[in-house]
Amino acid sequence: MTELLYQTDSYLREFEARVTAVDADNGRAALDRTAFYPGGGGQPCDFGTMILGDTTASVVKVAKEGGTVWHYTSPPLKMEEGQEVRCALDWDRRYALMRTHSALHILCGVVWRDYGALVTGGNMDPGAGRMDFEFETLRGELVGEIEAKCNQEVAAARDLRVRILPRDEAFQIPDLIRTKINLLPEGILEVRTVEIVGLDLQADGGTHVANTREVVRIHVTDYKSKGAINKRIYIEVADR
Ligand SMILES: [Zn+2]
Repeated sequence: MTELLYQTDSYLREFEARVTAVDADNGRAALDRTAFYPGGGGQPCDFGTMILGDTTASVVKVAKEGGTVWHYTSPPLKMEEGQEVRCALDWDRRYALMRTHSALHILCGVVWRDYGALVTGGNMDPGAGRMDFEFETLRGELVGEIEAKCNQEVAAARDLRVRILPRDEAFQIPDLIRTKINLLPEGILEVRTVEIVGLDLQADGGTHVANTREVVRIHVTDYKSKGAINKRIYIEVADR
């Protein structure tokens, strides 16, 4: 099991860890703890660097298999179990992903609160993302209004709170039911929740900013009809 440092501290960008497994054929290693996000829930994995002794390699891919997070290095570091490594995230990429992910939750919260539309999926790159909604009444004229409402929530400087709850407790929160928490596999005993205080609450494994003001600005760049009910909204985060 890898301790997932990013789950409780999304601002941790450097850390030391011990190698717990080596898969030389695939140029990858598992660590006892990691701040690298392995990807999931629409958020891509982190990149960065790993240092062993005098040798530095790039971390070019991170993936979670069961409870183990694997780090792929290039050129592949020749590691052994028990060795200590020092790691650093590509922080520009990660922070852009945090802002983008939180911006998408703002969008979700606004669209649910003001239009009653449920989110059905989403995806993101650093700085840009999209979300799918069951949003029959979405028309082009609403796009500007939705953007303005999202930026009001940015300006409202709402805190984001992350909690890890026992499954039973999480299942009693009505706001979580609507985000299809009931689809979580039975074996999962704890649920991590991300709350934009006063706006949105979701079961979520991703990394987020601490306050909506860090998003700075949301642009709704496009929308697409994927049928009578399903609509896709595209956003970007900007620095002003
Ligand atoms: Zn999310």
